[in-house]
Amino acid sequence: MVVIPARAGIHSLLKRMEKEIHMKSFKERVDRGDILISDGAMGTYLQAKGLKPGECMESWCVSHPNVVKGIHEDYIAAGSDLVETNSFGGTGYKLKSYGLADKVRELNQAAVALAKQAMAGKGYVAASVGPTGHIVEDEGGDVTPQDLYKAFKEQVVVLEEGGADALCIETMASLSEAVQAIKAAKENTKLPVICTFTFEASARGFRTMMGVTPERAAREAVAAGADIVGANCGNGIVNMIEITRQMRAAQPNTPILISANAGMPVLEGEKTVFKETPEFMASKVNDLIKAGAQIIGGCCGTTPDHIAAMARVAKAARQVDSQRSTANNEKRGSAG
Ligand SMILES: [Zn+2]
Repeated sequence: MVVIPARAGIHSLLKRMEKEIHMKSFKERVDRGDILISDGAMGTYLQAKGLKPGECMESWCVSHPNVVKGIHEDYIAAGSDLVETNSFGGTGYKLKSYGLADKVRELNQAAVALAKQAMAGKGYVAASVGPTGHIVEDEGGDVTPQDLYKAFKEQVVVLEEGGADALCIETMASLSEAVQAIKAAKENTKLPVICTFTFEASARGFRTMMGVTPERAAREAVAAGADIVGANCGNGIVNMIEITRQMRAAQPNTPILISANAGMPVLEGEKTVFKETPEFMASKVNDLIKAGAQIIGGCCGTTPDHIAAMARVAKAARQVDSQRSTANNEKRGSAG
């Protein structure tokens, strides 16, 4: 027997289907060249909400779920098209340092669920995957590439099951580690994979802590399977413009995600402060887009105010672009 739902039931079901059909996937939006706004800091925001030094940030997904969800909601209200889950330190290696190695599934599941609840289908959830804190043997460390692969696999499988739209491997310094994370993601999930590195300005130019240039990071991340590359943390927005240029030169066709800090941290008494204002960061967004950035967010020290100011500029740029392409199409139409 076929059970026919009540009229209202059909209506809401159809409405939901319609919404899902109209909502393009994250990858489709990126592939057609849309400028997208990511979110701002999670760690420094959680600290402002009471996270103690030395406390496991990811455990707040379970101990303070409303705070984590509230942070996502603040960024969504500010204009974020995608938010990143509170799962940066969600590998077994990282959680082990807090005695939580057996919580990989629970914490990563909770992280995705909170971001999805906050987003409520209006945008995308990128699941954050940070470094393990271990260095591979051939770079002088104590773990094998296979060990890292296994740890990343354990995390990304849960993040996909939870319903993330993309994986964001971020704050990478080691190419070996980034490559293992990308491979674990590509070989064990169907999700689009973003990989961003953290560079430091040095006398020899921009390098990660392990000595990798933006060009090489972009090239090798793409060779390993990354769909989107980029940079996060470690720099204010001005340096990120040059880093974007260098990545763009190495990978002319790969979408680039940039999340700058609100400047470099400055110690004032016992407090660490980040001094770039929302207005200052927003004033550089057009240059960042011109250099090649397509997805723009913020890292340490950025707040919903920073995201709102940057989103206003980026969305104006998005509008100008779409007007231009509509005008071009009309011109082409009338000429042809
Ligand atoms: Zn950061």
